[in-house]
Amino acid sequence: MWHKLFFDSVATGFGYFYSINKEVASVQTPFQHAEIFELEFFGRSLVLDGKIQSTEKDEFIYHEALVHPAMLSHPFPQTVLVIGGGEGATLREVLRHESVKQVVMVDIDEQVVNLCREHLGIMHQGSFDDSRVQLVFDDARKFLERSRDNEYDVIIMDSTDPLEEGPAYLLFTVEFYSIVARKLSDQGVMVVQSNSAAVVETDCFTALNRTLREVFPHVVAYSAFIPAFGLDWGFNMASRYPLINELESTEVMNRMKRIKGDLRYLDEVTFNRMFALPKDTRELLAREDRIIRDSQPLYVR
Ligand code: SAM
Repeated sequence: MWHKLFFDSVATGFGYFYSINKEVASVQTPFQHAEIFELEFFGRSLVLDGKIQSTEKDEFIYHEALVHPAMLSHPFPQTVLVIGGGEGATLREVLRHESVKQVVMVDIDEQVVNLCREHLGIMHQGSFDDSRVQLVFDDARKFLERSRDNEYDVIIMDSTDPLEEGPAYLLFTVEFYSIVARKLSDQGVMVVQSNSAAVVETDCFTALNRTLREVFPHVVAYSAFIPAFGLDWGFNMASRYPLINELESTEVMNRMKRIKGDLRYLDEVTFNRMFALPKDTRELLAREDRIIRDSQPLYVR
């Protein structure tokens, strides 16, 4: 039986329909339109400005893929900054690392975070209440500009995509990544969710990779297939030092033991899959010459 349908566009002329069982909540905040749906196939889901952010069925893939490669690239991460991350699931994964003493999460939208706290317990699993967590409601760029240099071992960018009318597009520029580099400690690592890595739409993924190369000597692009997005999803990780994909596999396995509890998506085999991008994507990355600037931002649809 068809229920009410929701459409999320991937590229001009291409997107996916999702069948909605129940509309749980809908709020227009000062920054974005936030909805929580019970989707027939994917379960409880967060949608911002018409774009699926996370679903009950597969959010573990996105959040494990976003968080652990960066956390494991650092020898002993103690201070972590999460940018965005409204659902609290990024926090949940960061907190599985016992070395972590403090996690600051800065999200621009208090109403979205409160909505997630109330309706997405299945995702945050109480992470907001962990004593190591400090929640800040602010624009991440303003917040970071004000914070001390060398403050964070890992900075995880789990913001919304750079939509033209959205709150996040100034978090995707070379000027912003220069600030991020200053705020990282010596061995610090950053990672940014980088939109689609599937060949139908790699604009953001490849331009971000090229932009980060202006700032950091070690940059790696990787991807994971997210069923609810219907796409390979891209991530870019950067540091002054070699990243996890550049380490020996015995060292990777040793570092994976640092994570508390069972992972559902990541193990050594999945690691190799994430960093093995297809030929056409590698060629697009190699050819990319765009640097995203404040004066010339990049927008996704
Ligand atoms: N999983 C996601 C996806 O599909 O891209 C992103 C997760 S999370 C819901 C994105 C969060 O980024 C939102 O809660 C939003 O309020 C926050 N955000 C957007 N722009 C921001 C900014 N400039 N500073 C801080 N947080 C921001």
